[in-house]
Amino acid sequence: MALIVQKYGGTSVGSIERIEAVAEKVKRYREQGHRLVVVVSAMSGETDRLLGLARQISERPVPRELDVLLSTGEQVTIALLSMALEKRGVPARSYTGHQVHILTDNAHNKARIQEIDARKVREDLDAGRVVVVAGFQGVDEAGNITTLGRGGSDTTAVALAAALGADECQIFTDVDGVYTTDPRVVPEARRLDRITFEEMLEMASLGSKVLQIRAVEFAGKYNVPLRVLSSFEEGEGTLITYEDEDMENPLISGIAFNRDEAQITVLGVPDQPGIAAKLLGPVADANIEIDMIVQNVAPDGRTTDFTFTVNRGDYDKALEILKNVARELGAVEVSGDNRIVKISLVGVGMRSHAGIAATMFRALAEEGINIRMISTSEIKISVVVDEKYLELGVRALHEAFHLDQPAG
Ligand code: ASP
Ligand code: MG
Repeated sequence: MALIVQKYGGTSVGSIERIEAVAEKVKRYREQGHRLVVVVSAMSGETDRLLGLARQISERPVPRELDVLLSTGEQVTIALLSMALEKRGVPARSYTGHQVHILTDNAHNKARIQEIDARKVREDLDAGRVVVVAGFQGVDEAGNITTLGRGGSDTTAVALAAALGADECQIFTDVDGVYTTDPRVVPEARRLDRITFEEMLEMASLGSKVLQIRAVEFAGKYNVPLRVLSSFEEGEGTLITYEDEDMENPLISGIAFNRDEAQITVLGVPDQPGIAAKLLGPVADANIEIDMIVQNVAPDGRTTDFTFTVNRGDYDKALEILKNVARELGAVEVSGDNRIVKISLVGVGMRSHAGIAATMFRALAEEGINIRMISTSEIKISVVVDEKYLELGVRALHEAFHLDQPAG
């Protein structure tokens, strides 16, 4: 018998039939003796519909009122699910974020959870009820309704699991787990039974959008075992936890990629202390995130070259800023390319193994793929290549590291 927090996303509660199906699922878990807290999203498309209404009034709706509006989507689904549970003889009670007291800061539309007073939830659980909580919303100290940012219900579920000391937080979604890579690119991609928080963060931040990144960070911080599983199929899903010392970790867990990249190069910058800050400061000031950075001294020893990547959407703006800065600093040339992608191998196992990078580079070379940039961290090796090589590169690496077969 365990205390489990379950979260069902928008597609899982997208219609009355699906809400009834969730109620059946919850009923079955309860019959196995588990105590359950269920967090739901709004019905799929509902948050977008509400946003659309607001935008018909104003391009920039007042953030406080936007939160009042957006929070209604989840209020609908908690009530419907609770009714569906009661109909099946399962005692249930629904609560908004305010009612269970999910206290957040006052940053409307992107609030952060500060504290949860879980007393009420515990009382209901002790009385044998299923507790149904609205995801994505909270309340600030002054009593204003806040929301946590798109996809925020994942974070609600994890935060509740942490506050309650739950045995597991289960995220039910429309995929049946975390895969070695995107199965649309590599049909042989395999569902992982297990992945570490660190690996999941790398995979998520690189565009494998299974879970809200903040939810993974939160779960890691409070050591909440997190499981991703399908609402529609039976299965164990993927468990996200800390590294287990007793288990042999696979060398590579997955291959993440990001199509949304652009590269900028500044040639012939006078090589002096402070030059990197002068060059990149104005870009950061414009709220443009800079990712991989490579600096190289030119053969003459007096100038240096910089290459770095930005999000493709920021490319034009970054290029314009840099052309101005480069002129002031007396740099020779600014150029760029927005048809590049980043491919990364992710795995905690690479910490204790040499030769992974060599295997990676060889696999890409055998396909005639030119590497434009390389960066490494403890558990990740990333390369930048031409956009046209994305699929070929990911497939070659998936094969080179035998990711279609279970490790061990
Ligand atoms: N309903 C919100 C959204 O669509 C929150 C969520 O689904 O997690 O972003
Ligand atoms: Mg969602």
